[in-house]
Amino acid sequence: MTDDYKLETILAHAGVNTDKTTGALIAPLHFSTTYQHPEFGQSTGFDYTRTKNPTRAVLEETLAKIEKADHALVTASGMAALVLLFNGFPAGSNIVAARDLYGGSFRWFNEQEARGRFSFTYTNREDEMIAAISDETDYVYLETPTNPLMIEFDIKKIAQAAHAHGAKVIVDNTFYSPVYQNPITLGADVVLHSATKYLSGHNDVLAGVLMTSDKDIYDKLFYDQNTTGPTLSPFDAYLLMRGLKTLKLRMEKATQNAKAIVAYLEQSPAVKDVLYTGKGGMISFKVADEDRIPQIINGLQVFTFAESLGGIESLITYPATQTHLDIPAEVRHSYGLTDDLLRLSIGIEDAEDLINDLKTVLEA
Ligand SMILES: *Cc1c(COP(=O)(O)O)cnc(C)c1O
Repeated sequence: MTDDYKLETILAHAGVNTDKTTGALIAPLHFSTTYQHPEFGQSTGFDYTRTKNPTRAVLEETLAKIEKADHALVTASGMAALVLLFNGFPAGSNIVAARDLYGGSFRWFNEQEARGRFSFTYTNREDEMIAAISDETDYVYLETPTNPLMIEFDIKKIAQAAHAHGAKVIVDNTFYSPVYQNPITLGADVVLHSATKYLSGHNDVLAGVLMTSDKDIYDKLFYDQNTTGPTLSPFDAYLLMRGLKTLKLRMEKATQNAKAIVAYLEQSPAVKDVLYTGKGGMISFKVADEDRIPQIINGLQVFTFAESLGGIESLITYPATQTHLDIPAEVRHSYGLTDDLLRLSIGIEDAEDLINDLKTVLEA
């Protein structure tokens, strides 16, 4: 397949007709950990599964294409991708990061900083981030939109500022997915995803991915992954590929549902503030009466009270005690992640059923 096809076509044809020996339409699931060498001194290209696996290789090719990168590397989780990447950075690296991050990323960054390994400068807004980038900066790390405050950063502007100072830019593109944003085309050097979320889409695979068009970065990541082994299992690679094929359909339906829900929330007297960027399935909102949060969460029937996001089932999360618990309360409050905030991950159910579910608890 050429690289000129549109996203839906690439997704629908992911792995199709890649097994020339049998003509299997769907890319086979290869469990074998080792591969027979045709002769002494020869290799089929596959030797041992930590290094390379055919099921994973087909998935990686698709993931690189949809993020418009030259290379992709899948890992056992989103956090494994983050740690694999940062473990390759020299000790003493200076990192400028967005403050409003996935709680687990912040937790790991904090721990590295406490060990004296890296130093971080956190910034709340795009202009602050650009102002914080200097010749001392080695890497810039951000999620856009941010999590859970849904603030968008201009990747192009940040990449220009970072590159002018010789720094590399890493974007966690989990929330928008390649359906709404291709950070590589905007100047990002590395893109990271928790593929556990939208890419797989069914809340049944834990996976991560790193994409880059920088051959040196890719070679280092490949070397480090082969050395340390945070790879994705073949079975999970297969499941991720299967889920990936409907990414665009799922994302579009989630967006359509989210817009209808936002319209409802914005006029509800029980809601103070609705944070939504206009695309994707993630909505945060602040309730007028914080004391009603347990009642709201317990009363929902269609929404499930659970962590995570990006699946076909709608979820509600209370970031203060779930995803962002590891960020100290005074730090959270200082940048607007207050205790009256709820986060929704909108799935592909019927919009009216979702709205009625919220109405029942919010206007009780
Ligand atoms: C979930 C998540 C991660 C971590 O990924 P895991 O697959 O859970 O390890 C990183 N970044 C964002 C934005 C996430 O939502």
